[in-house]
Amino acid sequence: MQNLPPTQKGRHHEIRAQGLREFAGLTRDDQRLDPFKLAEYAGLLVVSFAEIEALLSKETLDELLDGGSKNWSGGAASKKLPNGKKLIILNPTHAKTRHKATLMEEISHVFLGHKASRLAIENRDKHGNVIARDYNADIEEEAYSTGAAALVPYAGLKSFVEQGKTTAEIARHYNVSKALVEYRIKISRLWDAYKENLFQS
Ligand SMILES: [Zn+2]
Repeated sequence: MQNLPPTQKGRHHEIRAQGLREFAGLTRDDQRLDPFKLAEYAGLLVVSFAEIEALLSKETLDELLDGGSKNWSGGAASKKLPNGKKLIILNPTHAKTRHKATLMEEISHVFLGHKASRLAIENRDKHGNVIARDYNADIEEEAYSTGAAALVPYAGLKSFVEQGKTTAEIARHYNVSKALVEYRIKISRLWDAYKENLFQS
């Protein structure tokens, strides 16, 4: 296959990400992926925080939104709903672009067949680094990296880098955060090419 990342790990994630993009009906590497549509196929029900707010105690709300809001990016209910769907909540204090990365991670967990024994709360900073102590590193890396590659595929990213586009421009194109684009450039070993092309254009 052409246009795959140089590292073995990168190719592993990219091939799975391509499967996710195909499943979402995308045919080109420059197309935007909408994780909220894909979530439906994955049997995930994304509810807004406002919808469940009334069910939570004041202490829980304070913990989730004030003091602890930095400590979680999303959550998945470990038990399925009666209709077979799995409930997902995204941290409402985070940017919409960041929600997409969190949701893609959840979708990847489902598509990659990761078992529910994993930690149901996603704890990541905006650069995608896990900030939880107790988690399965390999599984979390596979899910996050695959989701990120589905949002910003290697072939599209490489082409934009070669055109001298900035991370902000690429982020706008895919409607994701700049931090996610920077992460994808670095992990795909495109950082040197990025710097070179940026100064040329
Ligand atoms: Zn995860």
